[in-house]
Amino acid sequence: MSRKWLVAGGGISGLAAAQCLQANGRDYVLLERCPAVGGLTRTTQVEDFCFDYTGHFLHLRRYPSPAQVPFAHLNDNDWETVERKSYFFAGGRLIDAPIQYHLGELPDDLRNACEKSYNERPKAEGEVTGFREFIVSGFGQVVADSFLIPQNEKTMATSLSRLSIGAVKRFFPLPDETRIRAGFANTGENYAEYNSTFWYPKRGGIDVLTRGLAHELTNVATTEDITGIDLEDRVATTSSGLTVAWEKMFPSIPLKMLCNLTSDPQLTAAAAKLSHSSTISFNFGVRGKLPGALKDAHWVYVPDRDIPFYRFGCYSNISPAMSSHGLNAVYVEVGVPGEDIDGVDIVGKTQKSVIDALEALGWVKSEDIVCAVTHVIRCAYVHHTPERDSLVEEILSRLNAFGIHPIGRYGLWDYVGMEDSISSALTTVEAQL
Ligand SMILES: Cc1cc2nc3c(=O)[nH]c(=O)nc-3n(C[C@H](O)[C@H](O)[C@H](O)COP(=O)(O)OP(=O)(O)OC[C@H]3O[C@@H](n4cnc5c(N)ncnc54)[C@H](O)[C@@H]3O)c2cc1C
Repeated sequence: MSRKWLVAGGGISGLAAAQCLQANGRDYVLLERCPAVGGLTRTTQVEDFCFDYTGHFLHLRRYPSPAQVPFAHLNDNDWETVERKSYFFAGGRLIDAPIQYHLGELPDDLRNACEKSYNERPKAEGEVTGFREFIVSGFGQVVADSFLIPQNEKTMATSLSRLSIGAVKRFFPLPDETRIRAGFANTGENYAEYNSTFWYPKRGGIDVLTRGLAHELTNVATTEDITGIDLEDRVATTSSGLTVAWEKMFPSIPLKMLCNLTSDPQLTAAAAKLSHSSTISFNFGVRGKLPGALKDAHWVYVPDRDIPFYRFGCYSNISPAMSSHGLNAVYVEVGVPGEDIDGVDIVGKTQKSVIDALEALGWVKSEDIVCAVTHVIRCAYVHHTPERDSLVEEILSRLNAFGIHPIGRYGLWDYVGMEDSISSALTTVEAQL
C-alpha cells in the first residue's frame, strides 16, 4: 500500500501545510469535510452583502505584510491597513477599547467606583496564575466584576475560576499602572495601543487569504469527512469510504475530536478532560444607517450578562465593499459551552433574543434586517485550564509516535490567531520533511 503525506482539514493551516508539501515534491493529499476549503476563514456573499464566518482580521507580527506570508500568493495592493476602532459597551455608552485603559470615559459615578476599587485592589500573593485572580489583582474588583470577568466568561462560556492566565496573556492588555491612571484622568494621551492596526482585504472579505493559500494546490479532496483513524495500520477512513494510508499526518481537526476519531483509550481519556466553547455567529444584512454611536465601530464588546451576545461587529465599517451603498453587513457572536451546543434552539430562541437585544439597544431595528446567515463554530475558544498543558503534551507525544503531527489553533489546542496557525503548520511540516 502506498503511503501519503496526509493533511487532515482544509482551513488556512491545512492549506499552508499542503502548499509546503507540494513545493517540496511530496506525494500528499488534503482531505476536507466541507464542500469548500477555508475552515473559519471563509466569506459568504448573499446578494448585496458579504459575511465572513465571523469577524476575522489579519494581525501580523512575524511577516511584515500580507504579501510576505509564505505560500499565500497575496498582493499588498489588495489589502488595506485598518486602524482599529473597537469599543466596550459600558455604563450605557461606548467606551474605547481596551476599557481598562479608558475608564475615565465612563459615567462619573461608575468611573469613581472603579478608581476607588483600583486603589484598594487586593495585592496578589506570589505569582498570579489564575485568570480571575489576574484580573481582580490587576484592575480592582469593580472593573473585574462589571466588565472584564463577564466579558471573558461570556466569550469563553465558562467560569474564569477554571482558567489560567498563561495563554491569554499575550492578547490581554496588562495591568500597567501608568496606562490605567492616565485612563482615569482621561487625558487623551496617545499611547501605543494594543493591536492598533490590522490588515483586511479591500474587497472579497477574508476569503482572499484562503483563495491565496489554496492557489494551484493539486491534491485537494473536499466533502471527505474523516470518520475513523486506525493508529496501528496508519489508515484514515472517510464517510464516503475513501481510505488513505499515511506516512505522516498533519491534522488541523480540533485535538479533542481527533483523539475521539482514533478510539484509542489513552487518547480518548485525555481528550475527555479538554473543554472549549462554541460560538454562534449571527450575520445580518441591514438596511439603512446604523445609529450615530456605531457609525465608525468595527466591533463592540458587550459584557452585560443580560445581553445574550459578547460582541457586535460591523463588516461594512471595516471595508465598505462588504455591502452595497446604504446597507450594512453586521455580525453578533454568542458564546455557548461546547458540551451544550447541540441543545441550543438557535432559530427559535437565540436568534430571537439577539434581535430583541439589538432592538432594545437601538442598534438595529428588526424590520431593517433583510437577510441572516448563521454559522456555528463548534470549537471556538479552547479552555486553558491548569491541566491543559500537560494533557496536550501527553496527547501530542502519543500521536507523534504514530506519525501524526497536529497543526493550527485547534490541532494544537491553543488560543492563537490566523498568522500563528499558518506559521505552526509550516514549522511542523518543515520539521518532518
Ligand atoms: C470567534 C472567533 C474569532 C476569531 N477572530 C480572529 C481574528 O480576528 N484574527 C485572527 O487572526 N484569528 C481569529 N480567529 C482564529 C482563527 O479562526 C484561527 O486561527 C484559524 O481559523 C485556524 O485555522 P485552521 O485551519 O487551523 O482551523 P479551521 O479554520 O478550523 O480549519 C479546520 C478545517 O478542518 C476541517 N475538518 C474538521 N474535522 C474534519 C474531519 N473529520 N475531516 C475532514 N476535515 C475536517 C474543517 O471543516 C475545517 O475546514 C478567530 C476565531 C474565532 C473562533
